[in-house]
Amino acid sequence: MVDRLRENGVSDEVVLQAMNAIPRHFFVEEALASRAYDDVSLPIGSGQTISRPLTVARSCELARTRSSIRRILEIGTGCGYQAAVLSLIAKEVYSIERISSLLGRARVKLRKLKCHNVQVKHADGSSGLESLFPLDAIIVAAGAVELPEHLIDLLAEDGRLIIPLGKDTQFLTEVKKLKVGYELIQHEEVSFVPFLSGVVVK
Ligand code: SAH
Repeated sequence: MVDRLRENGVSDEVVLQAMNAIPRHFFVEEALASRAYDDVSLPIGSGQTISRPLTVARSCELARTRSSIRRILEIGTGCGYQAAVLSLIAKEVYSIERISSLLGRARVKLRKLKCHNVQVKHADGSSGLESLFPLDAIIVAAGAVELPEHLIDLLAEDGRLIIPLGKDTQFLTEVKKLKVGYELIQHEEVSFVPFLSGVVVK
């Protein structure tokens, strides 16, 4: 899987090593385990999917900008795979998920893999999370139609928000927080489940 990521342009060795270390098959149902290292998204229940390895690697690479991350927030824990990868590239990882049943399963897996620097929370990423300010990076693992500007406010200066953005076609988008305002860079086309609001209790 890592060789294929390299061939597809991922070049940050810290990210590649983390992707190599975290067993993706551990995060999918047994029946799908044989496909866990293919470059495809797979169902994880509740109508959600684990993202393609290439997309996970690219968003980690863009968030890291080749320097160390102290505090990162992931919105959309899903099965917990990307949070586990992030645990190897950041000091403190916060990950929130709106669907409680997914979060429960992710929490167990992250504990089994001893990802002790990851804190997961049942919360809605479309509302405020002021207590986490200042963050070095935020990765949104669900596709938004409009840029959620309140998330940019949570970043430290020079921090990055990585988010799939677009109405009909989504693009992996990097938002760099500046002293005043922000800069937006559009990267490759991607396909994500929608960024929704509200929490789901079951
Ligand atoms: N990073 C995940 C990908 C999960 S798919 C992984 O490695 O598996 C995206 C997830 O985002 C879904 O589980 C969905 O429920 C969640 N999500 C969508 N909108 C959200 C929101 N506003 N707040 C929190 N989670 C959200």
